[in-house]
Amino acid sequence: MVEWRTAHLIANAVDIKRMKKPLRACLFAVMLLIASMAKLHAAPGKWEVFSIGGVDYVRLEDVWRFYGFTKRDGRTGCISYGAGDRTVSLRPSRQDFYVNNYRYILSYPVISNDNSLLISAIDMSKLVDPVLRPRLTKSGNITTVVLDPGHGGHDAGAVSRYAREKDCNLALGLKVRRKLEAAGFKVVMTRDKDFFLTLGERVAIANRTPNCIFVSLHHNSGGSAASGIETFTLAPHGTTSPFARTRRTEDLAGNNQDSENIALATAIHSHSIKKTGAIDRGIQRARFSVLCTIKRPAILFEGGFVTNPQEGSKISSERYQDMLAQCICDGIVRYTSNTKNRRSSYRQTGSGSARAGALHSGYIPHTRGSSSH
Ligand SMILES: [Zn+2]
Repeated sequence: MVEWRTAHLIANAVDIKRMKKPLRACLFAVMLLIASMAKLHAAPGKWEVFSIGGVDYVRLEDVWRFYGFTKRDGRTGCISYGAGDRTVSLRPSRQDFYVNNYRYILSYPVISNDNSLLISAIDMSKLVDPVLRPRLTKSGNITTVVLDPGHGGHDAGAVSRYAREKDCNLALGLKVRRKLEAAGFKVVMTRDKDFFLTLGERVAIANRTPNCIFVSLHHNSGGSAASGIETFTLAPHGTTSPFARTRRTEDLAGNNQDSENIALATAIHSHSIKKTGAIDRGIQRARFSVLCTIKRPAILFEGGFVTNPQEGSKISSERYQDMLAQCICDGIVRYTSNTKNRRSSYRQTGSGSARAGALHSGYIPHTRGSSSH
């Protein structure tokens, strides 16, 4: 059963039904090879898959074993495991998931089943592993950043007496541009002045720019108490989220870059939370227009609330904008250096190299993504 279970996990990670025939045949061959390797190296029972309510899950104890994690003290009220400088924390029945105290929102809650905690296979393959092992995500040679200050012209975005979103987005974008150019990147702005362009036009600019990533810059609105930074990536195929309520099953170009998207979000979001000390609202899933049809790694960053008296004043100040711009630039530098083709420098963290390879090769976005560049 080990072979089947290993293959099954890979199948879940890969969205086989969406693949073209030659690719499917190729994947099948790879799965058979991996399954035979796993038979040699893996103990029986690894990666048993539980189908519950139409969702496939794996045991968290298998996840911890895979990464060589042991139980440790971590976030208050959470179950925490880790190794070295990595600590992962979560809670049963919740979708919050923390890596080194940075918050992510899972596509499905962690559930209990027969004295075991289970995490969905889609979260394992689309969130947990790309975040814990970003070096396995290969983005190719990124030379260019498309910066997309949201709204503009007649569309002011969120407005309060403290700040106007379209102005904050543009000011932040222009500052990020200067820093990225100083770091050696080419930068394309979807707008560098106060004018309107459609969401489709913004995506088209990224899709015709080679070797680029796409960072859409926004600021939030809410009640006067709401504050903090949140970063959105495209919801995985077949899942829902508070911002993507329908379970979309058609091909979305943005899902070809699932691993790149979450790795890019992690790099920018974690730098921003760490340096600004803003409330961490998490890396969340959504199906916003600019994330769906894009063929490049893409995120939508919300730098704070214009409606919060303190934060609204901060995000319209040059000093804070400069700090946030530096965080975004540093995150992009980190992302591009983490995801360059540097396989040889990768140190495997799993307890078995065959199994580590098995899980990784389930990331068809790695291969599909690279073909679209
Ligand atoms: Zn906005």
